Amino acid sequence: MKNRILIILLTVIMSFLFVGLLFIQMRYVKDTVKLRETHFNEAVKRSIGDVARDLQDTGKRDMIQMVGSLLKTAFEDNGLGHISYYYQITENDTDVLYQTPKFYPEKEQYVFRQRLLPREQIYLKIYFPAHSDYIMKSVTLFVPSVVFTIMLLLTFAATLFIINREKKLNEIKTDFVNNMTHEFKTPISSIMLASQMLQDQNVTKTPEILAHISNVIKEETRRLNFQVEKILQISMFENDKSPFKFTEVEINELIAASVVNFSLKVKNRGGQILTDLKAENAWAMVDELHFTNVIYNLMDNALKYSKETEPLVLHINTWNENENECLCISIEDNGIGIKKENLKKIFDRFYRVPTGNLHNVKGFGLGLAYVHRIIRGHKGQITVESEIDKGTRFTIKILTLKNSE
Ligand code: ATP
Ligand code: MG
Repeated sequence: MKNRILIILLTVIMSFLFVGLLFIQMRYVKDTVKLRETHFNEAVKRSIGDVARDLQDTGKRDMIQMVGSLLKTAFEDNGLGHISYYYQITENDTDVLYQTPKFYPEKEQYVFRQRLLPREQIYLKIYFPAHSDYIMKSVTLFVPSVVFTIMLLLTFAATLFIINREKKLNEIKTDFVNNMTHEFKTPISSIMLASQMLQDQNVTKTPEILAHISNVIKEETRRLNFQVEKILQISMFENDKSPFKFTEVEINELIAASVVNFSLKVKNRGGQILTDLKAENAWAMVDELHFTNVIYNLMDNALKYSKETEPLVLHINTWNENENECLCISIEDNGIGIKKENLKKIFDRFYRVPTGNLHNVKGFGLGLAYVHRIIRGHKGQITVESEIDKGTRFTIKILTLKNSE
């Protein structure tokens, strides 16, 4: 909680700093542009003032010849030697006495005007085509500075995002450890109880009791083993090396064998498994152990998330698509279903649908992540459709062996 407040505080302070920084930069640019414009205007006015002074006593004809060179010197003297300009000399503001080849000022406000001869109505009009470039040159560094500021902002946002993700993962891992401890504790205490019974002199060890105790030990050890196996499977996620041993497998047979093993569990809870394995070409290159685990995980979920009021009916079908090139397997239950907004997350590691009133169903949230990973490793696809309170259907699609019948 403390961390959360710290992150929010940091975000607010950083956002404030960025807005402040941008504001100062804009202000700075505005002031610089204004200052440079004033400097430029003053330098131009000084230059054409100098020219007018030098021409004071000349006649009209000489004046026209002299203006060009006088302007050039005056601009050089006032630090504007490198900027290009066009000018025009007029009498009474209407008769053009002379003008440079190009003289089409785009905006009247950038034209400077100066009376040249004190006794006659002769005016010099001058304009600078690169006027705005000259002004903006002073703030060219503004663009990279804004880019840097934005990049800084993005880096900061990315850092926050990563911190947040790590935080979430941490919470999830704590949950996982709690869950795992619980899952291990139950079988361990059952085994402990059974061994205490064996040691207890007061318990008469009839063959029935011995059979019962050994059965408890066997079942609970199997459960422990299953949990350990699951966690081992998940360690696969950490290293990306292909852990598969592919062999040619008849998937219909693999499913039938898994169903036989699992149906006892389903029957104990009053449910049933109905299979319709009608895929003609069910041969595929799969890792037998992992693929069995996939089917087992899906059946396990169907049983775990079945309704309390209605016994489980589990339909498992296989069929071919694309002229026997694809093998499809569907596993459909009539359980509690999954809400649409949760459906897209169920293949995420450690994700469990928030249970509401179903507190008794334990799990790590790893089963489907494992299933997804294995199916991807087989270059297959798994999709899910679900309706709350109606049931869920998982469909797996993999490629069949091309040359087999
Ligand atoms: P475990 O790692 O022991 O399998 P888990 O069953 O909680 O734990 P997943 O198998 O990954 O984890 O399933 C993720 C979540 O998806 C479950 O917690 C459950 O809420 C939901 N879910 C999965 N299968 C079904 C299903 N057939 N019907 C309804 N909800 C399901
Ligand atoms: Mg599961």
